[in-house]
Amino acid sequence: MKDIVSLCKRRGFIFAASDIYGGLNGFWDYGPLGVELKNNLRDRWWKDMVITPPIGPDGSPIEILGVDSAIIQNPRCWEASGHVGGFCDPMVDCRESKKRYRADHVFVLVPKDGEGFSFAFDKDDEDDVIEKRLQKLAKGKKVEDFERTMLDQIDPAEFGEIIGPDVKNPGTLTEPRQFNMMFHTFVGATAGDENKAYLRPETCAGIFLNYKNVLDSNRAKVPFGIAQVGKAFRNEVTPRNFVFRSREFEQMELEWFCEEDEVPMWFDFWLEERTRFWESVGIPKSELHFLNVPKEDLAHYSSRTIDVEYRFPFSAPDFDELEGIAHRGCFDLTQHQEFSGTKLEYFDQANNRRFLPHVIEPSTGLTRGVLALICQAYTVDESRPSGVYLDFKPSMAPKKAAILPLTAKEDHVPTAQKLYMDLREDYNVDLDIKQNIGKRYARQDEIGTPFCFTIDNETSKDQSVTVRHRNTMEQERVSLDNVKAFMKEHISKA
Ligand code: ATP
Repeated sequence: MKDIVSLCKRRGFIFAASDIYGGLNGFWDYGPLGVELKNNLRDRWWKDMVITPPIGPDGSPIEILGVDSAIIQNPRCWEASGHVGGFCDPMVDCRESKKRYRADHVFVLVPKDGEGFSFAFDKDDEDDVIEKRLQKLAKGKKVEDFERTMLDQIDPAEFGEIIGPDVKNPGTLTEPRQFNMMFHTFVGATAGDENKAYLRPETCAGIFLNYKNVLDSNRAKVPFGIAQVGKAFRNEVTPRNFVFRSREFEQMELEWFCEEDEVPMWFDFWLEERTRFWESVGIPKSELHFLNVPKEDLAHYSSRTIDVEYRFPFSAPDFDELEGIAHRGCFDLTQHQEFSGTKLEYFDQANNRRFLPHVIEPSTGLTRGVLALICQAYTVDESRPSGVYLDFKPSMAPKKAAILPLTAKEDHVPTAQKLYMDLREDYNVDLDIKQNIGKRYARQDEIGTPFCFTIDNETSKDQSVTVRHRNTMEQERVSLDNVKAFMKEHISKA
């Protein structure tokens, strides 16, 4: 992860927010290449959902409509959704280190023989970190001598026997407290409770609030979907793992409204579609894991959730959540109907009946998806000067091609400029004139540009350029007239 984070900064994918002030924990900025990558992933999702939605079981395209709702909504909305009362994480403080942990992210090694202290660790701590700490503090005991339990499964009365993750003495961890993760603000000039409002912790609420508007204005028929991409905010107790868990992030959410008895069929449909999506943007199925979330871990609105997990470097060999596919029942529409007093039932004209549709929700983190794409693309290759290249699918790559005049002299530059002007109408391409050609190739490898076109002395003679393939470093000649066709063939099929 360290190498990935450093490449992201060095090459302009992702920076710490407020970097020059020392950053702000849990907030990130996307640089020139990061924003292109994020837009590519977002646009592909939008296209697959809204512009060219999948073909349904009856052989015709399903219907999905897009919205872009306000980040701040009427605060009653969050009472109805259950977030004001229940969107909480259990938080534990360490009195000595002053650090704060999520109780469900800390595991404890409890001695099997009941002798001596227990040791708490962060859930992502690697084996060698655990071994080293035990060597120092556990008086000859090894990992095998302990039972592994999550901190939130231990009675706080027994916390006195636990040595916290960052200290050497027992009894410094406080009892878990519920911590509401919604950021709040005040609307208008006075900061009283009557003006309190929240930054949305998930984008889907804006969909439920607009469900009736969309139905009425578009003559939509159940089953249909509403999609939204946008920012969400959660005051995470412990933001971590680069952009994986941040306090400000982006989501891409679809709410699929259907009849209750069709839920199992649509759930399978969306699971398959979403898997296909991740494969199509470059995440192989072998790196995905599908977690059937146990009943006791389900969110308050869900009766079934499958988490699509990816093998992130910090979780490997295990997986961590990339997307959740949840059956939300008719929880949200029921709650908003009750709290708003507005009827939200769907009128099924053919059968002359009214009902609240059930909802299947594939909910994806856009920024988490960007991290997955970067992690998956990161390929070490000692044989090349950069030592590494990013193996993005051409369709996801921030720059589709680089145009490199071999030297800054002769007529290389004007030809390169002409090719650049020609290609940039259709593709995001880079014109790079400075430095020696090796350094320029290395830079393009590190930012994942799939093709480099080099204009050299032969170009003026035979009107052709060298194209270098990123992954194989193989080179071939392509005539200038055929560069566009080459791009079309190689970008559109990948
Ligand atoms: P987690 O268990 O990781 O906290 P969650 O189950 O609370 O996630 P959901 O509420 O299902 O997450 O949100 C849907 C998606 O939004 C997640 O699959 C993830 O991709 C993304 N997401 C949620 N929280 C964050 C965060 N703090 N930072 C970045 N992405 C997030």
